[in-house]
Amino acid sequence: MTKTVIAVGGHIGDMELTAGPTLAKMVLEGARAIIVDCTWGERGHPLLTPTEYREQKLHEGRFFADAIGAEFVALDYSDGFLPDDEAVAEQIAQIIRESKPDVMITHWIKSMHRDHVNAAKAALRGAFLASIPIEGEPLARHSVPSILHAENWEDMEGFEADTFVPIPDEAFDRWLAGISEHAFARGETYGFRFIDYYSALMQVKGCLVGHQRACAFKNAGTEKFALAGP
Ligand SMILES: [Zn+2]
Repeated sequence: MTKTVIAVGGHIGDMELTAGPTLAKMVLEGARAIIVDCTWGERGHPLLTPTEYREQKLHEGRFFADAIGAEFVALDYSDGFLPDDEAVAEQIAQIIRESKPDVMITHWIKSMHRDHVNAAKAALRGAFLASIPIEGEPLARHSVPSILHAENWEDMEGFEADTFVPIPDEAFDRWLAGISEHAFARGETYGFRFIDYYSALMQVKGCLVGHQRACAFKNAGTEKFALAGP
């Protein structure tokens, strides 16, 4: 049976960077992958106006999804203003009810970025809402069997990896081709060498599990009950 994986990120580029290699690998194995970015990250460029960067970010998100064979959904929340509310969670829940994912990947719940925290909360709450009966909801409920937090240098407080996914060369190459289109990942916005960091991180994690490359994740645990209900 075809697997489905959904990745929920705060800004266009977050899940592409961190979950992207794993999504590329799963697509190569026949899975359906859906990237859901809650904001477009349009305020993240020191020179371009949000209006200019917004269109570029949308292009970058679509380019990446095409490069790895994923679907791309950009919710239209304002960068830096992603609310922590039921409306965002219900949008995620709707996508979960429709696509019935086997795996959901999102940010860790602690981050230097509020949008990352709120995206993680929306993803966890969305998974909860999708799993329970709701009066008047026409779609069948769906419980996501596996929820993983991706390793991200911006979300490291208390993050302890417990799951490692080997990344084959072809998946890495597709990830690199797609992420290289993202200006921020090339270090052109605030200078952090994202592509070098995550390429090296995959080598380091690969060493730990006996593969050339791997990505690390943390299984969602009891934190999801406190954040997302019941
Ligand atoms: Zn971000």
